Amino acid sequence: MAAPGSTYEDNLESATSHLARFRDDALLHLIGGQPTPSVSGATFDNSSPIDGAHLGTVASGDAADIDAAARSAAEAFGTWGSLPGTERKRILLAVADLIEARADEIAITECVDTGQTIHFMAKAARRGAANFRFFADRAPAAGDGQSLPTPDHINYTTRHPIGPVGVITPWNTPFMLSTWKIAPALAAGCTVVHKPAEWSPLTAHLLAEIALEAGLPPGVLNVVHGLGESAGKSLTEHPAIKAIAFVGESTTGSRIQAQGAATLKRVHFELGGKNPVIVFDDADIERALDATLFMIYSLNGERCTSSSRVLVQESIYPEFTARLAERLRAIPVGHPLDPASVIGPLIHPRHHEKVASYRGIAEAEGATVHDGTPWAEAPAEGCWVTPMLFTGARSDMRIAQEEIFGPALTAIPFDDEAEAIAIANDVEYGLAGYLWTRDVGRAHRVAAQLEAGMVWVNSQNVRHLPTPFGGTKRSGIGRDGGDWSFDFYMETKNIAVAFGHHTIPDLSAAR
Ligand code: NAD
Repeated sequence: MAAPGSTYEDNLESATSHLARFRDDALLHLIGGQPTPSVSGATFDNSSPIDGAHLGTVASGDAADIDAAARSAAEAFGTWGSLPGTERKRILLAVADLIEARADEIAITECVDTGQTIHFMAKAARRGAANFRFFADRAPAAGDGQSLPTPDHINYTTRHPIGPVGVITPWNTPFMLSTWKIAPALAAGCTVVHKPAEWSPLTAHLLAEIALEAGLPPGVLNVVHGLGESAGKSLTEHPAIKAIAFVGESTTGSRIQAQGAATLKRVHFELGGKNPVIVFDDADIERALDATLFMIYSLNGERCTSSSRVLVQESIYPEFTARLAERLRAIPVGHPLDPASVIGPLIHPRHHEKVASYRGIAEAEGATVHDGTPWAEAPAEGCWVTPMLFTGARSDMRIAQEEIFGPALTAIPFDDEAEAIAIANDVEYGLAGYLWTRDVGRAHRVAAQLEAGMVWVNSQNVRHLPTPFGGTKRSGIGRDGGDWSFDFYMETKNIAVAFGHHTIPDLSAAR
């Protein structure tokens, strides 16, 4: 089998062989280690955004299927939750090895299911293995706490897995994102019910299949497919599920918080973004150009941390935006399995329609639309868009306020540092911020004032797994990464032991 990135033809051949199983047999839930149809027998259709081709039918779960999966996770928690961390580490490292071994298959499946190009998916699949390795290595010490002594007591803390948890994921880079949530949950000792996005169900199954094969006990990782309003909602309401790790839209996050209120769900939300990249006139312009383009036109712009607004100092705005437009035209749009393609089709006709509608919105608002180069051979039934750059934009325009979640960049001029910060913060989101300047003092000043969970200075988004990942405002609640992930999936307990000499009031002597 050819590795992704070899040739387009090899990748097409691999796709035909890897996807045949999903076309031939309905994709079922995986509950207690067993492929399981929906109790209701319901299914939904899955199709490729490349050309609308039917990829297969998928079991559509509801409350009954979630209940079965939650019970299975609760039962498995009895043993998985009390297994020594070293043993969890051994099994999760085996999962990582198997992901690596099947990375080509995962990448190719993801490309056909989501429209993301092999250029990025080959790395994303391997990053999934890295996520498992990172958290597996930390499993033995996950329960460790602090020693907080006083003259009278020794206080010490311990951490314990919270129980079965629900993981609800979106359709953008679904495999990698799922591992980012599921690996720390399993390393902490939690068991999981995963509800993947209905628009990209395939690689969630591959992950659960790999985990079983690697020795993860049945019931520790369950997958229930289905729609958000049925399977997703039931998961957030189930009393056996102690926490929900959710990645998706801000409005869905609000709904999940309301749905989980009755059972007092702990929630962790990674939501939308409208991230600014601020380019000052003293910046390294070449690097700033490359980073700006990379952060919005990679992964089809379907990326929560995308640099969807570029704020450029007025003195360099005309030249900077002209060069953005020129480079945009050279970005290859094409079939996702062609190693030369950077941008592929968008995930689904509904999302395609939404992203494409911003062309008309931009024009009506008075911005200028610059086009990239579309793929001449794009199948008419697919979700293909021409990447866009909007110049002459103002912060109060919809193209500057709303998360488009596609290959569309909005360029806004600013006069000075104060105005740059004001525009950057003038959105309801607060996930990431990027800034480019050679002035060290200004870099720190601006970084401190950006309303964002993460700021990159003179850098594109380079992830370091021990660092915290997450957003403020409508971009999320909580942080992932390093020990932050364990804090979410675990309960902290304080144990206070007296040395035997502190005063205990004698209430009977008070008479
Ligand atoms: P979405 O919110 O529509 O769906 C995400 C998941 O939630 C899906 O599995 C869906 O079935 C489920 N869901 C929908 N309604 C539900 C409900 N009522 N109860 C429970 N589950 C429900 O999001 P999407 O369109 O799939 O993904 C795109 C969004 O994800 C964008 O806004 C993007 O910014 C965000 N995202 C954020 C991050 C981050 O780290 N902040 C990362 C990736 C994606």
